Amino acid sequence: MSTHRDVIVVGGGPAGYTAGLYTARADLRPLVFEGFQYGGALMNTTEVENFPGFPEGIQGPDLMNAVRAQAERFGAELDPDDVVGLDLTGPVKTVRTADRAYTADTVILAMGSAYRKLGLAREDELSGRGVSWCATCDGFFFKGRDIAVVGGGDTAMEEATFLTRFADSVTVVHRRNDLRASRIMVERARANPKIRWALNSQVVDITGEGSVDGVVLRDSTTGHERRLDVGGLFIAIGHEPRSALVKGQVTLDDEGYVMTTTGTRTNLEGVFAAGDLVDHTYRQAITAAGSGCQAALDAERHLAALA
Ligand code: FAD
Repeated sequence: MSTHRDVIVVGGGPAGYTAGLYTARADLRPLVFEGFQYGGALMNTTEVENFPGFPEGIQGPDLMNAVRAQAERFGAELDPDDVVGLDLTGPVKTVRTADRAYTADTVILAMGSAYRKLGLAREDELSGRGVSWCATCDGFFFKGRDIAVVGGGDTAMEEATFLTRFADSVTVVHRRNDLRASRIMVERARANPKIRWALNSQVVDITGEGSVDGVVLRDSTTGHERRLDVGGLFIAIGHEPRSALVKGQVTLDDEGYVMTTTGTRTNLEGVFAAGDLVDHTYRQAITAAGSGCQAALDAERHLAALA
């Protein structure tokens, strides 16, 4: 197989596979690097109830295996390797893995963004079983429960306020006394009778067998520990877009997200970006897949203009 491609996609989540599916159906024989986590972030969750087309919901890994198979069916070549180097500046792009190099006329970046974790022992084990990073995705599962939200920024305030639609109570846990969030967001949260506050407090343990039944909070000043009975823990301490690979070539914003101009175009000709790597706001599987589709169509049009 030639090492030169019309299209190389970096990322095997909803954005990358959808870009692979569309470019494969356009007969562009894309090579899709899936990297360390084939299927992307949804491989770490259980029920997905908001992806259109599945009225009964679908398990995250089942959804992603289906999207993967759909891209493969039309000829996308999937490679499990991590991309470790990219040279994107000239008309011919170079994409390197640890032991190979490929060239391409267009590259679609879809490396996603990592949810910041607390670094607690049971955090991964209980992910999708009470521990969540996404209120929009999972809030509905917490009807009538008491839950905690960790974080002191705008996202934490927004998620806490949103979650009061479902939960009986939402306790905001923040390690400092003052909140980073904008005044209006804090005021809105403070006015909400379902929101309680555990400031100057850190979550130091998550408890529960099979699903979350509580957290242990440590007072940041006194070191005193106490238990809070909750059925869910939402972690809202930020995201880290996986853009280190393209830093210095592709324009990033202050938070490290890839900036796009028209559609999915980046500052570099022939380089497109999609999914959570560019998305501050929506961070959903459907929006990632949608922008993967856009990136594929943008790449296709770019290639057509070159021909
Ligand atoms: P990702 O899914 O993060 O995929 C990134 C891909 O890039 C991965 O395959 C990774 O291996 C690859 N990659 C990264 N770096 C490299 C590299 N150097 N070389 C090669 N490959 C690389 N959304 C919903 O709509 N509904 C839900 O119910 C829902 N639940 C969620 C539950 C959890 C626990 C989490 C974490 C997220 C959830 N989301 C949900 C959000 C959704 O998963 C994301 O918005 C979506 O996966 C983003 O897609 P993406 O393709 O941009 O990135």
